Amino acid sequence: MGKQPEILENVRRVPLLKKQCPQCRKEFHGQPAKKFCSVSCRQKFVYYAHQEERRARLRRGYYAAKEKKAAKRPAPHGPGRRPAHRGLPPAEQ
Ligand SMILES: [Zn+2]
Repeated sequence: MGKQPEILENVRRVPLLKKQCPQCRKEFHGQPAKKFCSVSCRQKFVYYAHQEERRARLRRGYYAAKEKKAAKRPAPHGPGRRPAHRGLPPAEQ
């Protein structure tokens, strides 16, 4: 994008402004409302901006699923499931 913006400045109704992309810090020419140099940079910015939020949500889902799975399974030494008897056989009377 070397000479193109200069040519377009005479034709465009919406002027192209010289801007800096907040994601990659690259300079580019864009319309007043445009903030990022590319779609890729906009998506990266949103991805990193909501990183903690997304991780917290995934963490919550992970622990919820884990708890649900643990509730289904009987306790390891509970009444439903006893460890195999490995000592001496019960004394005969
Ligand atoms: Zn960029």
